[in-house]
Order: sequence, then C-alpha cells, then structure tokens
Amino acid sequence: MANPDLRAHAAEARDAYLSLLESLVTIETPSGDLEGAERFVAHLAGVLAGDGWDLRLEAAEGAPGRGPVGDLVEARLAGGTGPRTLLLAHYDTVHPVGTLQRSPWLVEGDVARGPGVLDMKAGIAAALVAPRLLRAAGLGLHGSVALLVTSDEETGSHGSRSRIEALAREADRVVVLEPSRDDGALKIARKGVADYHLSFAGRAAHAGLAPETGANALLEMAHAALAIAALADPPQGTTVSPTVGRAGSATNVIPDEARLSVDVRLPTLAEADRVDAALRGYAPRIQGVQVHVAGGVNRPPMEANEGNTRLFEEARTHAASWGWTLEGALVGGGSDGNFTSALGVPTLDGVGALGGGAHTLDEWLRVGATLDRVALVTALLAEP
Ligand SMILES: [Zn+2]
Repeated sequence: MANPDLRAHAAEARDAYLSLLESLVTIETPSGDLEGAERFVAHLAGVLAGDGWDLRLEAAEGAPGRGPVGDLVEARLAGGTGPRTLLLAHYDTVHPVGTLQRSPWLVEGDVARGPGVLDMKAGIAAALVAPRLLRAAGLGLHGSVALLVTSDEETGSHGSRSRIEALAREADRVVVLEPSRDDGALKIARKGVADYHLSFAGRAAHAGLAPETGANALLEMAHAALAIAALADPPQGTTVSPTVGRAGSATNVIPDEARLSVDVRLPTLAEADRVDAALRGYAPRIQGVQVHVAGGVNRPPMEANEGNTRLFEEARTHAASWGWTLEGALVGGGSDGNFTSALGVPTLDGVGALGGGAHTLDEWLRVGATLDRVALVTALLAEP
C-alpha cells in the first residue's frame, strides 16, 4: 500500500526536480554525439555520487558499422531483502545539437519544455529524485536498486543491449522510465520491431535486342514485395510494410540488381517467428534471380504476460490508494523494455513523464502529473 506522504513529498520536491531536469535538458545529447555524451555523463555521475549511489561507467559495445556511442552509466543502491529492481533510462535524444537554441528550456505554469525533456530526461530525473523522496519520507528501500542509463536507445540500442540484458537477468523486475502514453496510460505491452533487407541478383541484358537472356531483378523484387506484404495479419496487429525499393540502372537495360527494405511490427513472439520463417524461406518466382535476406528482429515484442501484468497491478494499487486510476496500454513503438520482457523479467514501461510532442521540436511535459509518477516510482521501491 502506498505511503500517502510520498505524493506530497514529490509535490514539495517540485523546484528541486525542475532544476535537476533543467541541468539534464540543457546538455544536448543526440545519439552518437560523443562530446555531449561525455559532458552529460560527467554531470550525471556527479549527481549520483553526491547522492550516495555506487557508480560504474562503462563504454558501450561497438556495434559493427554503427559508429561510436557514449558511455553507459550504471549505479546501484543497496536495499533490504525485497525484489531487486532495475530502473532503465536512456540519455540520448533524437534532437541534433542546436535544437536547444530553437526550442529552449522553459517552464510556464504546469508545463516544462525542451528537447528531450519528455523522452526521456524526465525519466532520469525521476530515478535520481525517487531515493531522495524515500529519505524525506523516512522510508527505506524494499530491495536493491540498479539504474542503467544508456546512450543509444533512439538508434536501436545496438551498443547497450547486452548490458541491458545482463542487468535484467540480475533483477526481479524492470521499471522503464520512458514517458507514458499521451493520455497517461502506462505501457504494459509493446509491439516488437523487425527490419529486413532483401537483395536480388539477376542478369543484365539489352531490353530491346535480347531481353529473354536477362533475369529481371526488379520484377522479382515486385513479386517479393507483394508476397511479403501478404504476411501481415492486421487483426492480430502484425504489420509488414515494404518501405524502400531500389532497382535498375537505365531504361533500356534489364536490371540485374534490386534491393528491398521491409518494416515489420509484431505483437507476439509467435508472430515474430512466423514472419521471420516466411521471409527467410522466400523462394524467387523469376528464373535466374537469386534472393538474399538480411536483417531480422531488432526489438522482440513485449507481451502483456503474467509477470508484466502483476507489476502493473502493483503500480495500479499504489495509484488507487491516491485516488488515481491508472490505465495500461499496448503501444506500437519499441523500447529497451522489449529486451527485458522477452527475457521473462517482469517489466513495466511508461512510468516516466506525462506530456506530449516526443521527437518533435515541441516536446513538453506536465510537471504536476510527472511528479505524481515520480511518487509512483518511489512507491514501487519503498519498503512496505
Ligand atoms: Zn525514449
């Protein structure tokens, strides 16, 4: 049962929360910008160390062909014998350096604005403030807490995934501090994301003199695009969308080469397997054209399984004790919670800020409602 004081303590911490949030938002951290990442990590490490967190910085793994990304920040607090919680956040944003000049940090009444404020500097601030609220309320941590703040979530978490999964395996539950849905619903299930890249190798020929000696890679790509699109299952929520196609070199040449990219969104692990098998087993229709299939599932689906639902119910019980009805939703976009949930670790996502305009120049959050979520995160960590 939630401690009613926590919500009041969170409201009282408004100024401290906002100044902390300002310090996070005003260091610009687009994915892959090492200079911004270094400054941000130094600042964050200073705050964590000052608050007594056990700190460890780790270089993100280089992922082939993806360029370097900033360090990962890991921090721990020892607690009681309760569940071990992993708090998951990322400091990279989709906003290039200079965005802050066009859309500066601003607080007007109950609204705070700035690039990355919602997605998800506010979530990082929540993780920092929650233990402070516990201390203010005279409460201890129920179990131990690990915090992982990554640097490449917006570009697919290629350099941080192994660390996310390693820490999730050491945890009993994962709380992802991504923003909630715009209507305030927490995210209890997310679709998985896959992308595939098909290349078609045919045989060139003069389109006028001897077209029959060629093998038309473009025509094969067209067959493939239609067959692949038919793998979609809209009632289940599986979408399969050919998105980029390229072929041909000149209007009078039978094309010997074509490429097709496909975006796939998956509601369940079973659907991921079905679509993957069908794509990899695609047999070309045009004689003489060879197909090569690359890519695969990037983020597995986060299903509303028993563990995730139980964790959501726990959050909902805390909220209900404050007279506040919490909803849970299935959303399309993926997050790092997809990885932890697929490992079978109960995962609750969307517990960060409440606002709107994520990934746009007009990113904003509601301060009061976001502080309520800080109280909720704190309640999840508190001794009963
Ligand atoms: Zn995010």
